[in-house]
Amino acid sequence: MADTEKELRHDVALANRIIERFKLSTGFGHVSARIPGTNTFYIPTRRSPGLADENDLLVIDTDGNVLSGTGTPNSEFWIHARIYAARPEVNGVVHAHPLACVSLTQIGEPHRVVHHMGGVFVDGVPEYERIGLIRSSKLGDDVAKSLGKGVAVMMRGHGITTAFTNVRAATIAAVFLEESADLQVRMLAAAGGNAAKIRAFTREEAELARDQTGPGVTAAGRAWEYYATVAAHKPLGG
Ligand SMILES: [Zn+2]
Repeated sequence: MADTEKELRHDVALANRIIERFKLSTGFGHVSARIPGTNTFYIPTRRSPGLADENDLLVIDTDGNVLSGTGTPNSEFWIHARIYAARPEVNGVVHAHPLACVSLTQIGEPHRVVHHMGGVFVDGVPEYERIGLIRSSKLGDDVAKSLGKGVAVMMRGHGITTAFTNVRAATIAAVFLEESADLQVRMLAAAGGNAAKIRAFTREEAELARDQTGPGVTAAGRAWEYYATVAAHKPLGG
């Protein structure tokens, strides 16, 4: 196995453990990475992301064919498959069920940039409204369509999906999105439910925050190092 393949497998397993250790997902959720230059991707078998194992990944293509690996794929692998099909520049996809993001969708509040780490979502986070698991190519296409050219989509009453040029950045974007939504929910509560009282960033402020602290900047350094190190030390469910 080539070193780069080993490294990518390691990153995929680690990214899955990160979304579980940071409470974006518990028993359900998954992170994948495109095998560079192909229409195939690595994704764990059907179990908690907290139990992902780099030696036990499946290789699936954008048409949903399992090309290698043993075991059953996650039932919502279509999210990954069809985003990779629609977005050739995307090499990492995260699907998780974080509570604050789900809360925002169910009170009808769009995501707003309210702190530095939210800057990456300056162009807005669209919503995929349909309830239910994404278990077909058609539904995967629908999610990819809702995502559009963006980096994240909220899935009403369900969770989120993030997409980025690499799996580390996609993972950090997912953590940042939940942090941002959690803050927004707290601010709404503190403001007595009056969304107008929240001093959301202007576009200019959000762009500055994105350029200084966004996943595109921090994935290569301290953010990934931190999340990966914590995930390696925290117990499952910790
Ligand atoms: Zn899901």
